[in-house]
Amino acid sequence: MCMESDEMALNNIHPHDTIVRMVHPSRIYELNSLPEGKGPVLCWMSRDQRARDNWALLFAALRAAEKGSQVHAAFCLSPGYPGATMRHYDFMIRGLVELESDLKKTGIPFTALLGDPQTVIPAFAESICAGLIVTDFDPLKIKRSWRAAVASAVNVRCVEIDAHNIVPCRIVSQKAEYGAYTIRPKIHRLLHEYLHPFPEIRSVRQDPDFAVNDWNRIRAGITADPTVQPVSGVMPGEKAAMDALDDFIMNRLERYHKEANDPNKDAVSGLSPYLHFGHISAQRVALAVRESDAPQQAKDAFLEELIVRRELSDNFCLYNDRYDSFDGFPQWARQTHEIHRGDRREHLYSIEELENSLTHDDLWNAAQRQMVSTGVMHGYMRMYWAKKLLEWTDSPETALEYGLYLNDRYELDGRDPNGYAGLAWSIGGVHDRAWPERRIFGKVRYMNEKGCARKFDVRAYIDRYR
Ligand SMILES: Cc1cc2nc3c(=O)[nH]c(=O)nc-3n(C[C@H](O)[C@H](O)[C@H](O)COP(=O)(O)OP(=O)(O)OC[C@H]3O[C@@H](n4cnc5c(N)ncnc54)[C@H](O)[C@@H]3O)c2cc1C
Repeated sequence: MCMESDEMALNNIHPHDTIVRMVHPSRIYELNSLPEGKGPVLCWMSRDQRARDNWALLFAALRAAEKGSQVHAAFCLSPGYPGATMRHYDFMIRGLVELESDLKKTGIPFTALLGDPQTVIPAFAESICAGLIVTDFDPLKIKRSWRAAVASAVNVRCVEIDAHNIVPCRIVSQKAEYGAYTIRPKIHRLLHEYLHPFPEIRSVRQDPDFAVNDWNRIRAGITADPTVQPVSGVMPGEKAAMDALDDFIMNRLERYHKEANDPNKDAVSGLSPYLHFGHISAQRVALAVRESDAPQQAKDAFLEELIVRRELSDNFCLYNDRYDSFDGFPQWARQTHEIHRGDRREHLYSIEELENSLTHDDLWNAAQRQMVSTGVMHGYMRMYWAKKLLEWTDSPETALEYGLYLNDRYELDGRDPNGYAGLAWSIGGVHDRAWPERRIFGKVRYMNEKGCARKFDVRAYIDRYR
């Protein structure tokens, strides 16, 4: 039975913090209409796996302080998340181990749970007599269904806080946007209201009853495909993410606007795995970039990708339930694909041939190898890679299916709204316009090796991933 006690007061918010002012009320989305109880606030972390710069955690800590109660953080690992492999679980678990120790320093207990969040989170909430459940925002269908199930299974207030987007996704627009050109002005109009520094959670009391998570047991409970091995080139966690951001700003940002489309130049940030797992906040990245000494053109080009393109992907997945299927393509693209269904394909590859880089195209094979071996394909090559799937498979449906399978299996940042939007853009013209009609592609934008050769040294890239 849950006892309500005044002794639970955890003064882990510095009295001078005015977080209530800082967590923009529009970030809060009610997941049920139940009242709050007096018990601890459970911060159920999911997409945003970090102690710092986390609006969901800040909100949870604030409410706990206001209620004179504790905040308790938890993460529930779903043992067989669709498409995830050992590569992803390893990255995520190592990040969670660091999160546990970071949270400990602020006095917040952290519990790692294993199982189906839809049943495990309500049971855990009940076991700690939670009076409020705070979780983060994710537009993907599986995450939406988890949140809905948890919110209806518990008997206390459950809220979602958009801790991932700078301008909260539900606020920037209430419908699926046509493209960057329609969402850009909406984001820019609101940016000044949201793009401001974060408050810090400062601990003044350590909870003596910290549970220790048994990470070996948790690792043993994961049933993901072990054949896709962890990668060594990208270190997980908040510290590694901040180091990667510093390194990018010091060494590459200044040339981003000129060289981001050249996969040989290493001018991009490499932040997508950290953004995907929420090891770093996009808002922190944007603030650091904005304050840097880099040329304005470089900052603008980068912030366009980080803010406009990334938030457009969340918009696509939130408002288009068919974000992972042919039916999610715009009408003009579906129509043009119908007309060109019967076009003869010069090359047709099976999923095994594609997965093993066995096509006739050295450039494509190199991109596929980069993804399989490093866990991150360069952004420019992702477009070329996906376009060729449309050309070399029997239908746009198969192209999308293979693209999602390979992308989500090997990319560290896979299973992300950016991936769904990127594949839908490449294969289905989402967020793009109609182009002059041609074989197989119809009016969907075409890309070929000659176009790549105009942008970068194709041979050097092939040699690098031979
Ligand atoms: C077919 C295809 C598949 C993709 N799959 C994924 C995926 O699974 N996960 C993923 O995070 N991104 C995906 N992208 C988007 C983009 O290619 C990657 O985000 C980017 O290459 C990551 O590298 P970076 O962090 O060095 O990017 P940078 O160029 O340094 O950009 C910084 C950040 O801006 C955002 N961003 C950059 N380009 C885009 C874009 N085109 N759309 C949306 N946001 C963008 C990302 O969050 C990125 O980390 C895909 C794109 C395509 C065309």
